[in-house]
Amino acid sequence: FTTRQDTLFGATFMSLAAEHPLALELATAEQRPRVEAFIEKVKKTDRIKRSADDLEKEGVFTGSYCINPVTNAKMPIYLANFVLMDYGTGAVMAVPTHDQRDFEFARKYDLPMQVVIVPEGEQLDPATMTEAFTGEGIMVNSGRFDGGSNTEAKEAIADFLEKEGIGKKTVNFRLRDWGISRQRYWGNPIPVINCDLCGVVPVPLDHLPVVLPMDAAFTGEGGNPLARVEGFVNCSCPQCGEAARRETDTMDTFVQSSWYFLRYCSPKFAAGPLDREKVEAWMPVDQYIGGIEHAVLHLLYARFFTKVLRDLGYCNVDEPFSNLLTQGMVIKDGAKMSKSKGNVVDPNALIERYGADTARLFSLFAAPPEKDLDWSDQGVDGSYRFLNRVWRLLFEVLPAIKGAGAPDPGKLSGEGKNLRRAVHKTIKKVTEDIEDRFHFNTAIAAVMELVNAIQAFNRKGAPENVAVVREAVESVVRLIAPFVPHFAEELWSELGHEGTLEESGWPGYDADATVDEELTVVIQVNGKLRSKLMVAPEVQEEAVKSAALADEKVQPFLEGKSVKKVVYVPGKLVNIVVG
Ligand SMILES: [Zn+2]
Repeated sequence: FTTRQDTLFGATFMSLAAEHPLALELATAEQRPRVEAFIEKVKKTDRIKRSADDLEKEGVFTGSYCINPVTNAKMPIYLANFVLMDYGTGAVMAVPTHDQRDFEFARKYDLPMQVVIVPEGEQLDPATMTEAFTGEGIMVNSGRFDGGSNTEAKEAIADFLEKEGIGKKTVNFRLRDWGISRQRYWGNPIPVINCDLCGVVPVPLDHLPVVLPMDAAFTGEGGNPLARVEGFVNCSCPQCGEAARRETDTMDTFVQSSWYFLRYCSPKFAAGPLDREKVEAWMPVDQYIGGIEHAVLHLLYARFFTKVLRDLGYCNVDEPFSNLLTQGMVIKDGAKMSKSKGNVVDPNALIERYGADTARLFSLFAAPPEKDLDWSDQGVDGSYRFLNRVWRLLFEVLPAIKGAGAPDPGKLSGEGKNLRRAVHKTIKKVTEDIEDRFHFNTAIAAVMELVNAIQAFNRKGAPENVAVVREAVESVVRLIAPFVPHFAEELWSELGHEGTLEESGWPGYDADATVDEELTVVIQVNGKLRSKLMVAPEVQEEAVKSAALADEKVQPFLEGKSVKKVVYVPGKLVNIVVG
């Protein structure tokens, strides 16, 4: 097996896993004692250690040879401690010049080396190499494949081997068997019974489910507490009726977390594991949320189980989750907040002091959910002050807006129109931030801006603006409700509503009202019209002036001259005086 067939011409020996079925068979009589001793030694080595880069490479010559199919060279067959049985076929061609482990091995046992890839424009000499060359490069010493790039040679050599009938392309999944049994109480029982006469016997369907006993003693002495519960362990064999022992290993929790979402579609279904119709109606999960630590294990297993259950005809789901959000961690004083580090914040103390709403608002405001959240006590205080501001604002305007109805867009102008635009833009933004991106922090920031706009609003203006203020305040209450539900319900009731805010639904926005109003500002140079600018009504004077000076139609009239003065008539014109 190899993933580097482009280096086939450089293969000078063969490495077998010690567990390989041919390992002993290939050993010559002379080498056999050494081979046997080596196999025993490797068996005792931890497999994780065997895959580590810094493992001291060791091996033993079997005494046998094989033929390199492209060079016809005789290659000695070794057993090597770093070759694992589940890597490919457990028999790996060794190319010491282009694989670091093979390089170390060849140096140690003085095995031949042949360079077959060189960096472009360079030479490599095996005698002076200090490590394997594993980069991309140009093929050499590889017969008809010389001169090309090794990436192209990969395909070409694979095709060549297939055509010659001496090899074939394959996909090799780097997966291992998964031992799902655990020696602990807390897990789903494995429904089998061990009988001395019949062996392992499945618990009959009508005896399922096997339920964990409630009287297991947790002694802390090690071993599985289940194994000590006689009433659970002792049973009769479903096959022969003789006394037998119930399996006390339970399943790894990963087993159930791999398909619970399918069962959740029909938790009471008794005729099988899954109600196909219900699964069809509910799955896939629209939005999955979890920590990044689940990205490789749980999510991969969940996909496996789903696809296997689909292939077995239990459901028709291909992918279980449509969207995944991996939320960040909470950081305190520069470290991940954890019980073991002792840097946790007690939410109860926070809730007692500020209330649950403040605690929620701060957590959601501090960072977007996929980023880590830096915990800060000042931040909590800031959220508390904001809620107080909203509270005071509402009671300040309440007497004036109490009886007001909905604003009439046709009657609004100036300030009133601008505030209404801010309201509907905010509804739009908060809706999108929550629904599309889960960016609660920017949603909350948008509500804060709206509160500022209401506070700055001249409430003594046109009488029709009272309705605008009412709509604005009411929108603030509705938009912050998902973050501070208790607080919002209270204010909703103060606004005179009969039902709950929760029942009133989510506010919609008037798309027409969100369109920015633009004013046309003409640009003159020495009193002559040269260009026009479109600006927002609330634009600052400095911004208009610099935009006018930078305007490309204006530029030619400024060339070689000095600007003496720039006059701005708000919302109407900019006059640039040059000389
Ligand atoms: Zn039996």
